Amino acid sequence: MIRLQGVGKRYPGGKEALSNISLHINRGELVFVTGHSGAGKSTLLRLIPLLERPTRGQIFIASMSLARLPRRRIPLLRRGIGMIFQDHRLLYDRLVFDNVALPLIIAGTPYREIGRRVRAALDKVGLLDKERHYPVTLSSGEQQRVGIARAVVARPPILLADEPTGNLDPALSGEIMRLFEQFNELGATMMIASHDVTLINRLGHRRLTLADGKLIDDGLGQRQEI
Ligand code: ADP
Ligand code: ADP
Repeated sequence: MIRLQGVGKRYPGGKEALSNISLHINRGELVFVTGHSGAGKSTLLRLIPLLERPTRGQIFIASMSLARLPRRRIPLLRRGIGMIFQDHRLLYDRLVFDNVALPLIIAGTPYREIGRRVRAALDKVGLLDKERHYPVTLSSGEQQRVGIARAVVARPPILLADEPTGNLDPALSGEIMRLFEQFNELGATMMIASHDVTLINRLGHRRLTLADGKLIDDGLGQRQEI
């Protein structure tokens, strides 16, 4: 589903944020991406929906080469990828309902479908009773769940989460991870960047480890040359 071949990323004027990354994530897998701050976790995630372009190597999503994807097809690529951020990135002047509806509106979903699907997504994250609230009136954990509902509402085959539990206490973090496992069981392919080693150890999914831009462990028992 997601394949990287010799991928490198150097930011303009910066050092190499990722170097020579090769990996393969199968459809329906859930993998954690771990490593210290600055290891390259966010950069790796941002390459998948082409929020950043690699400076070396090749990325394939569902066997399609991103390098060969015409610019006008990028919105379509992004519609197939739900993103969840540490800081939620909600629209604070809009109701919870409208935040979650956004990807459906962008995708041109028929109006009568939107209400039903937004409620299905809010129901999944346990926030059906908050659809008429503004995000500021919700707790941090609830805001994160609104972000998750928005990411899944259009049923994208791929979900990417960047430090989704970074601001949450252990109990809430565990709840968020259980939600991710549920979406994974429904078929979503997931990459979750996190430095919460305690939580990751407890869950026991495949783990990619980055150090200083290099993939030092791909979680398949194949330690790579540093
Ligand atoms: P992590 O998510 O593991 O903390 P990042 O992918 O954010 O790591 O960062 C990897 C490296 O790339 C760091 O050295 C960081 O300073 C650098 N970096 C990240 N984003 C940018 C950017 N937009 N411009 C220049 N350098 C960046
Ligand atoms: P729908 O009414 O949209 O068919 P379901 O009751 O089947 O909804 O699922 C409820 C919600 O769970 C969906 O709106 C979606 O947010 C999420 N969901 C279900 N399946 C998947 C999947 N394969 N990938 C991502 N999210 C999913």
